[in-house]
Amino acid sequence: MSKNILVFGGSGALGAEIVNFFTTKGWSTVAIDFRANTVANKSIVITNSGETEMVRVATELNATKFDSIICAAGGWTGGSITSEDYFKSVQKMLDMNLSSAIGTAYLSGKLLSPGGLVVFTGANSALVPTPGMIGYGVSKVATHQIVKSLAQADSGLPANSLSIGILPVILDTPSNRAGMPDSNFDNWTPVSDVASKLFEWSSDSTTRPANGSLVTIETKNKATTFTLV
Ligand code: NAD
Repeated sequence: MSKNILVFGGSGALGAEIVNFFTTKGWSTVAIDFRANTVANKSIVITNSGETEMVRVATELNATKFDSIICAAGGWTGGSITSEDYFKSVQKMLDMNLSSAIGTAYLSGKLLSPGGLVVFTGANSALVPTPGMIGYGVSKVATHQIVKSLAQADSGLPANSLSIGILPVILDTPSNRAGMPDSNFDNWTPVSDVASKLFEWSSDSTTRPANGSLVTIETKNKATTFTLV
């Protein structure tokens, strides 16, 4: 019987690569995003990651249990306390980064298999103060808190499951290339490196970091490292 993965944010640069990678390896894939993913075995389009939509998704997927649930949803917007669009930028980051992590956590409580893996995407930049991007920093620190909270015995995740956070420094995505065309792409992490590591952790529980780990992902001269925070 094939294994199941649910990718929240499965139509983004990282999420779509995870869907591609696991589909190629024979896993059954479900993608959830604002846009459809045509590669996934099942694609669920949502309008937001609030309660009504998450309950609808959980009901629709009720008969399925997932070996891995990955949140690759999110986004980036800068904004300091003196920015003209300060409140707007903070709300946007809460809606994209935090709401998606909260929704994924809810779905994990309902749909993760015992012994399963749930992974949230935080950010390495949120390990230190982020005065120029308050909303982004706050939403990612809160995501890290979700990772650690779900790792507790009384979190509501099924027995022997694992909660991990991945903290990229910078991913090699089309949108980053368009925004920063003069950068050295050898120091950006290919999304396939992330997908490959998630596949390893998903397929072989002995390779997984400890429950509640935050793992920084950094690439230098085309070599990607995964380091426990
Ligand atoms: P992306 O913009 O290509 O994809 C993100 C996807 O998430 C989009 O398809 C979007 O529709 C979806 N999404 C946003 N809010 C959502 C919500 N509330 N519910 C459901 N789906 C939602 O981004 P990416 O570059 O693939 O980044 C993936 C993750 O990695 C994000 O969490 C991002 O913050 C994080 N990250 C990225 C970088 C980078 O350099 N790109 C660096 C550090 C962390």
